[in-house]
Amino acid sequence: MANKPVTIEISARHVHLSAADLAHLFGEGYTLAFKRALGQPGQFLSEERLHVEGPKGAFDSVAILGPTRAFTQVELSLSDARVLGIDLPVRASGDVKGSAGIKLIGPKGALVLKEGAIAAKRHLHLSPADATRFLLRDRQTVSVRVDGPRALVFDEVLVRVSAAFHTVMHIDVDEANAAGLTGPTEANILL
Ligand SMILES: [Zn+2]
Repeated sequence: MANKPVTIEISARHVHLSAADLAHLFGEGYTLAFKRALGQPGQFLSEERLHVEGPKGAFDSVAILGPTRAFTQVELSLSDARVLGIDLPVRASGDVKGSAGIKLIGPKGALVLKEGAIAAKRHLHLSPADATRFLLRDRQTVSVRVDGPRALVFDEVLVRVSAAFHTVMHIDVDEANAAGLTGPTEANILL
């Protein structure tokens, strides 16, 4: 079997905001303050935090990732959804139509979103060079094996290929806990 190594990184709960929603929550003309660069080029963790609320519970101090996007998207784990009391669908990033509603509270305003909250479908960002090297196509699904005391094969990993990507796989905190991962971990793509 060909060796197709990939690093798995864990995504904690976070929010992507549209420019309009950022203005509503933080004030007109507000821009997110850069705190630290993230793995994908141009993406960053901001200094700002949001209060995220559901019918049964809430989370304080939820991270906001920049830059702003066309649509607001709240990425949570299924454990988070239980705490909040919302019914969270597993979706590819950007596929927010008909997803869960949620309330966001910022320093200058609050927003009740009818949709926008998802559990992100586990996915593999691939550079075009690695897609060629690994013989993989955009939007196909693959399996990825991780070793260790809670060794696990992640099926249904969505492949996304873009010149804007560094190669890395993203899972959420529930998925990381299922495999006993606590930080970036080497894994292998199976076919
Ligand atoms: Zn990702």
